[in-house]
Amino acid sequence: ANIGGGVFAIVVAVGVYLFCRRMGGPVREIADGIRDGEFVPYYQPVIDITTGKLAGCEVLVRWRRRNGAMIPPGRFIALAEASGEIFPMTLALMEAARDELADAYARLPQLKVGFNLFAGHFDDSDIVDDVQRIFEGSPIRMNQLMFEVTERQPLNDIPRARLVIAKLQALGVRVALDDVGTGHGGLSYLLKLGVDVMKMDKMFVDAVGTDRYSIAIVDSMVKLANDMNLELIAEGVESFEQLEYLRAKGVRMAQGYVFAPPLPGAMFLQLVAAMNPE
Ligand code: C2E
Ligand code: CA
Ligand code: CA
Ligand code: CA
Repeated sequence: ANIGGGVFAIVVAVGVYLFCRRMGGPVREIADGIRDGEFVPYYQPVIDITTGKLAGCEVLVRWRRRNGAMIPPGRFIALAEASGEIFPMTLALMEAARDELADAYARLPQLKVGFNLFAGHFDDSDIVDDVQRIFEGSPIRMNQLMFEVTERQPLNDIPRARLVIAKLQALGVRVALDDVGTGHGGLSYLLKLGVDVMKMDKMFVDAVGTDRYSIAIVDSMVKLANDMNLELIAEGVESFEQLEYLRAKGVRMAQGYVFAPPLPGAMFLQLVAAMNPE
């Protein structure tokens, strides 16, 4: 019985070890990847559709593995958030984008740049100090920065998130509510968080050209943004029909494959240079 118990204990121990290694493996790979600079910013152009000019970009993270594979955020962001690695990853991404965009700012000093934050960033003010420290002395001024909070995840503490947002705004940066109409907040986040910008999800943009009920929702979102004095950015614009519809409704900012997908830094800089020759 003693030997059986010992074997059992060893089997359990090996099982626990293998389980931990399976879960710990990917988290460790993320931590190593951050240290090795494998999380790189891609930049999706945001276009002022009233003028056709490049207004700014949204920074979207990609994981460039050592073997050259480019992993989209859908495959690792959730794990990075659950493990806390999202915090150092976000800082590394902001630093990389700040450095990489320096050339773009020489040509286009008005360029705006948006970063995605996750719900946990709004639990305390660390992000406020980090933003100040990272962008201090860079050509990117505070009023050209935007931070996006998604409605897809519930915020843990709305009054606290409101406070963090107010502190970011006190620095001069703008805050956007992302994925409006698709997630937890419903309209309440729009009322409670005091954001400056509303990002209309692709789901609504996709409704253009379909049935009149879906279009009615698009129209009312545009009206809501106007009535609340929020800038509206339409995302996921893929067709000229969608683009023309939004323009006719008075939407000013748009991003989507009809213009460009998220681009690696070198390509984004080429685009800036092509659109703004010296
Ligand atoms: P999101 O913030 O809503 O970003 C927009 C997503 O739509 C991006 O996917 C973008 O590539 C994609 N997209 C843009 N235009 C079009 C279009 O015309 N058609 C289609 N089909 N898709 C379009 P991506 O880069 O895979 O990012 C997915 C999500 O991952 C983002 O959604 C965001 O929630 C999250 N994410 C990305 N980067 C970061 C980051 O640095 N930090 C955090 N916390 N989340 C991030
Ligand atoms: Ca976003
Ligand atoms: Ca979005
Ligand atoms: Ca979206």
